[in-house]
Amino acid sequence: MGVIVVGSFMYDLMVEAPRRPELGETLRGTAFRRSVGGKGFNQAVASARAGARTEMVGMLGEDPFGAEFRSVMDAEGIISEHVTSCVEGHSGTGVGMPVVYPDGNNSIIIIPRANEEMGVPEIEDAAESIENADVLLMQLEIPNDAVLRAAEIGHRAGTKVVLNPAPFRDLPPRIWALVDLFTPNEGELRAFCRSLGLGGEGPIDDLAKAFAGRLDVEVVVTLGDAGLLRVKPAGAVEHIRGHRVHAVDTVGAGDTFCGALCAQLAQGIDLSQALEFANAAAALSVTRAGSGTSSPSVEDVQSILI
Ligand code: ADP
Repeated sequence: MGVIVVGSFMYDLMVEAPRRPELGETLRGTAFRRSVGGKGFNQAVASARAGARTEMVGMLGEDPFGAEFRSVMDAEGIISEHVTSCVEGHSGTGVGMPVVYPDGNNSIIIIPRANEEMGVPEIEDAAESIENADVLLMQLEIPNDAVLRAAEIGHRAGTKVVLNPAPFRDLPPRIWALVDLFTPNEGELRAFCRSLGLGGEGPIDDLAKAFAGRLDVEVVVTLGDAGLLRVKPAGAVEHIRGHRVHAVDTVGAGDTFCGALCAQLAQGIDLSQALEFANAAAALSVTRAGSGTSSPSVEDVQSILI
């Protein structure tokens, strides 16, 4: 039943600074914020808010950041039975350190820590939950071995396997036969096409068609404010336009999109309608500050779909 997200937790420690510091310089910043995040966690929040029973599989540290993630999961109704904690002395909870400059650009240092400890044993402990889920949703902030094992278990059990390939990295070729739906953004799709020798330039529709055909997988490419493209393995392309909204913070739009999409699919809604819902949910999320925690509720999304 529902959606199972196998993925990352990253605790964000964000600072705003007037400019990039010079080497050796101590620079006074202008703001500090901290928040729970990570692609896996953000997508789980989006799925739960979109009304699906949602479970998360991942790894935290035994530290205050890990404790905060657990209490937020409880508050959001996310099942965390297979969220393990690294034993003391090992890695702590993953952290991200974005520095945001006045023009809106940023530099980010991430230290995955506990996320890197996710391996085949942790996935096998969660096998029953993966088998019983309607949809398995993954990203690439945990090791490939874990992603691959979860995909194998899901595929064998008939769970729909959705891969959001972010951030980009090369994948073992045998993953493609296990994935039902692939959801890159434009930059990620271009990077995959380059690494597969399909070229990374030219119109995105053509690249998406070439990619879907070569790997025999259904692809949904998110295009920021331009909406999204759906491409079937046989090559039919459908473009769904983005909603016109006043964007305040687009970080994590893709996470809201993927979580909301999978929540719909898990509730038996067909892909066309699920894409309309996810497109609206992601548009709403960019009108609010924050990444995962800016995901909207079902009622909010329905109000703009009418
Ligand atoms: P990512 O966050 O992974 O880079 P995108 O930027 O492609 O992903 O955004 C994901 C989805 O969020 C888009 O397909 C669209 O539905 C929605 N979205 C993103 N930015 C905007 C925007 N400025 N206006 C409306 N919708 C947006």
